[in-house]
Amino acid sequence: MFHCQILDTGFFYADGGAMFGAIPKRAWKRKYPSDEQNCCEMAMRCLLAWNENKVIILDTGVGSKDVGKLSYYKFHDLQDISSLIRPLGFEPEQVTDVVLSHLHFDHCGGCTYKDQSGNLRITFPNAKHWIGEAQWKSFMSPNYLESDAFRPDDLMPVFNAGLVNLLDKDACLFDGFYVGLYNGHTDGQLVSFIETDEGRIIYPSDVIPTKAHYSVDWISAYDIKPLESVGSKIKLIKKIEESKSSVIYYHDVFNKINAFDVRK
Ligand SMILES: [Zn+2]
Repeated sequence: MFHCQILDTGFFYADGGAMFGAIPKRAWKRKYPSDEQNCCEMAMRCLLAWNENKVIILDTGVGSKDVGKLSYYKFHDLQDISSLIRPLGFEPEQVTDVVLSHLHFDHCGGCTYKDQSGNLRITFPNAKHWIGEAQWKSFMSPNYLESDAFRPDDLMPVFNAGLVNLLDKDACLFDGFYVGLYNGHTDGQLVSFIETDEGRIIYPSDVIPTKAHYSVDWISAYDIKPLESVGSKIKLIKKIEESKSSVIYYHDVFNKINAFDVRK
C-alpha cells in the first residue's frame, strides 16, 4: 500500500482548439473555460507515492530551465518539485524512482535543472527513471510532429548517468504499483496504477488529461495517433469503472482528482 500526495508544479496555456481536436467549441466550452484568445489554462499535476521501501515521483512538470524559450505557453506560478517534497519529509536524494508517463517537456522538464553556474544537474540523482521503450525511441529520434516537444537536456544527463530504465510491456514495478502502456497521444505512454489505503488511484496523464476528456471521442489534436487513442481510452475507462478507481488529472486546473463515486 502506498501513500499519495499531489504536487502541483505550475500552470500554462494551451489553445482550446488543440486541446479538444474535432470537438466543436460550443460543446467543449461547457466543460472547460477559455480566455479571449481561445486559450485554456492547464495544470502540471505531479504525484508523490511512498511506502516504507519506495519514494516515487510521477512526472516532473516543465521544471525551471529554459522556460523562457517556451514563452508561447505562458508558463506561470511554477513550483520547484524538490521544494514541494521537502515539507513532506523527503529530500530529492531519497527519491528511489521516477515514473515518466512520456517525455514531452511539460511532463519531464523537471528531471534536470541548471545550477547557478549554468551546469545541468539531475533533480533526483539516485532514482531509477522508468520510461516506455517506444517513447524513448521517439525521444532519441523524433518524428516530425513531436520534434518540438522533446528537449534533450531534460533526459540526456539522466541517461548518461545510467538511470534510465525502459519498459516494453505492462509491468508490476513494485508490490501495489503497476504500469501499463497506452499509445495514441504518443508512442509508449505509461499509465500508473497505485494501491492506497483509500483504494486504487490511476494516473492517466495525457490519455485523459482533463475531466472533460473522460469520454472516448474527446481527443486532443496533439495526439499523434487518434485511432490508437480511442482504443487506449476504451481500455482504460473500462479498467477505471470496473475497479472503481480514482483518477488524477494531470492538466485539469478545475478537477484535481475524480473519486469514482462522484465522477458523473
Ligand atoms: Zn501534457
